[in-house]
Amino acid sequence: MVTPMAHEPGPRTPSTGLRPETIAVKAGRPSGGGQPLNVPIVAASTFTSARALGAGRHPDEEDGREYARDDGTQTWQALEEAVGALEGGIGVAFSSGMAAISAILDSVPTGARIVAPDDLYQGAARVLAEGVDRLGWQVKRLPTDATAQWLDHVPGADLIWLESPSNPLLEVADVPTICAAASAAGAVSVVDNTFATPLLQQPLALGATFSVHSATKFIGGHSDLMAGIVVTNDSRALAAVHERRLLGGAVPGALEAFLALRGLRTLPVRLERGQQTALELAQRLQAHRSVTRVRYPGLVDHPGHELALATLAGPGSMLSFELTGSATGTDVRLSRLKVITPATSLGGVETTIERRAKLAGQEHIPETLCRMSVGCEHVEDLWADIEQALGGSVA
Ligand SMILES: *Cc1c(COP(=O)(O)O)cnc(C)c1O
Repeated sequence: MVTPMAHEPGPRTPSTGLRPETIAVKAGRPSGGGQPLNVPIVAASTFTSARALGAGRHPDEEDGREYARDDGTQTWQALEEAVGALEGGIGVAFSSGMAAISAILDSVPTGARIVAPDDLYQGAARVLAEGVDRLGWQVKRLPTDATAQWLDHVPGADLIWLESPSNPLLEVADVPTICAAASAAGAVSVVDNTFATPLLQQPLALGATFSVHSATKFIGGHSDLMAGIVVTNDSRALAAVHERRLLGGAVPGALEAFLALRGLRTLPVRLERGQQTALELAQRLQAHRSVTRVRYPGLVDHPGHELALATLAGPGSMLSFELTGSATGTDVRLSRLKVITPATSLGGVETTIERRAKLAGQEHIPETLCRMSVGCEHVEDLWADIEQALGGSVA
């Protein structure tokens, strides 16, 4: 049996009554006179043992840290506190989003019954497929938005995995209804909250056991780090995830944790700008002659629009669209872009675009579907770039 961490971090900044934009700025800062405003990059594997010095003799004694992989560092803790405060739980930071996802899935026993979406981040899908082969997991994959089917399959399941909005189809799940059913069935529920971010969706408040993020994306926000974070308010779940980090060893880097927290400070303004631009671009793309379909939860005719209004504080800055013509024609068009960067990642200040079906394991994705992560550039520069790329003839 795993015991929770001896020194549970208590939030240093009271977050009750504050709005998310304010919590993103204030949470996870050192307190007290003479302290730096920002938590330092603590480059430490080991800490002077307060135990060996004897009670009351060491100024940092209440901290009780001995070894970073066991006890964390002040830098990780600050990031964990800030994301935890935004999502109403306690965070555990990892070296990447996949490390965070694996920390949850590594505790899933042999023969477990798992329900997961069809449209699922391909790394998570591969871990599930491995579990089927190695551990006899029974994995049922369902359309994200087919709530009735989820409710049929949740009773008897051990783990429910959700991703909402989903990558890259931007489907919206009925997170509260499915998590309530999971809870009634005694199943653990997980929401990959990477696309929504802690600002737009609080999975724990919607009933999930775990929220998980690739902090590489929107939280970091500048495409310059890899990190992940798990958030939960269930003490057993928290203990299990801490134990996975301790034994799996997928700890965040000191610089990465610092940069992820620095990125989080501006997430509200980046997201506000990205969302505004994404909505404008989605509407203009819908009217473009070369575009056959736009998927963006902020559009009133998006099938998940009502659910998005109910579960998300905003539609986010990810959108996907499909073009007329072939996959090759789409690649030609994307190759003409000059402002928008062709790149696989997302959530940065720069707008990135990718034809997703070119990736292995993405056979369910329409072949001309382009996933776009809308950044902070001027909307008219982005639109002019898209127009010139889509215009002209292609094969
Ligand atoms: C990128 C991503 C991940 C994986 O995160 P890494 O930081 O790349 O390991 C997981 N889920 C979603 C939705 C993602 O976009």
